Amino acid sequence: MAVRRPAALTDRELGAAYPFLPGAEAIVTELAPSLRDLIRSPVYEPARELGRARIRAAMDDPTGGTPVAALSSAAPELRYLSFLYARLLLSAAPAAAPLRRWAVAEAKQGSGRVAAAPLEEFLEVGRRLGFPLRGDGEGILVPLPDYLHLATPIREGDFRLVRQSLRAGLVRVGRDRAARLLQEGIRLRLTQPLAVAEDARAALTEGEPEFLAEVARRVPPPSSRPGSTGGPLLPDRFPPCLRRMRRLLEAGENLSHAGRFALAAFLHRGGASFETIVDAYRGAPDFDESITRYQVEHITQRDDGRGYEPPECATLRSHGLCYRDGDPTGPTPADREPDPLCHEPFLRHPLQYYRLRGGSVVDRAAADGGASGGGGSSR
Ligand code: SF4
Repeated sequence: MAVRRPAALTDRELGAAYPFLPGAEAIVTELAPSLRDLIRSPVYEPARELGRARIRAAMDDPTGGTPVAALSSAAPELRYLSFLYARLLLSAAPAAAPLRRWAVAEAKQGSGRVAAAPLEEFLEVGRRLGFPLRGDGEGILVPLPDYLHLATPIREGDFRLVRQSLRAGLVRVGRDRAARLLQEGIRLRLTQPLAVAEDARAALTEGEPEFLAEVARRVPPPSSRPGSTGGPLLPDRFPPCLRRMRRLLEAGENLSHAGRFALAAFLHRGGASFETIVDAYRGAPDFDESITRYQVEHITQRDDGRGYEPPECATLRSHGLCYRDGDPTGPTPADREPDPLCHEPFLRHPLQYYRLRGGSVVDRAAADGGASGGGGSSR
């Protein structure tokens, strides 16, 4: 008996299923709504409502594990327009973190779908994203430059190039790993804000003040809460390495495991409350509230609440996290230039730097028992 291959998706179906693909906008060629219509016209309120639902789902669950129920029964045009509206709205929002959070959730949903799709569809999605993948019967072949581009931001050790099968400039990976790479490709694409003209930006933000305020509440900027013990945190006195870690997370960039650990341990000893430390990670593209809470608790509750000792400079240097010579991408001249204090031979530890710049460091076991202050630290 002949085995019938599943019919390939039409362009219209492909665009509705994967609205992030270049060319997906062809779905709405016939409707041809203007940007103004999409933002303002009552005709497109269902698309806007579904767009807001997409954003809410991402804010609630950036793992992409909570699909928007109404999407599955929506017409392809409505699905595409809801995606477009969500992307426009977050591109116009004042902070970058919500767009990046949404990008993670959409990317996870997209890669989940493509992982379960027929091989032909899988390869077509890769091709349209700009990655010429091939199947060879044993796995998926990824050109080396594409592999490096997609795997570099992934923190899992299994994606390191030394652990891959590489031949003739092609990396062979299993289907799941290839889907994870595509997820990264989708995320990278969606984290780039759309260029929104000033009048459209104003229409979007003026039309959605309450919703954007709700989004901002759900993704608050780090350190929005005061420290619970030991006085306020003084982020402008942080050493260059810690300032850069915070900037990365605020910008929705990935921070390595070593960096995440160092930041939590440092903030804890700097007197930050548990909630402040959790908040510091909210901009992370893969932020997951329950996992973060668990990890922060693990780092801060050790040794009767004293917490893990933050890594010293030599350790941060070995992880590529020391920025004493300046961060070329830093926002201020002081960030971009070498830091004299960091170059003092006696400087051994970021907490030492913080104290010397006027920050207080807390012996948390004593502080949490009621004797907070800056004098009880070993640093
Ligand atoms: S010298 Fe130490 S405190 Fe300064 S940036 Fe490097 S790791 Fe941080």
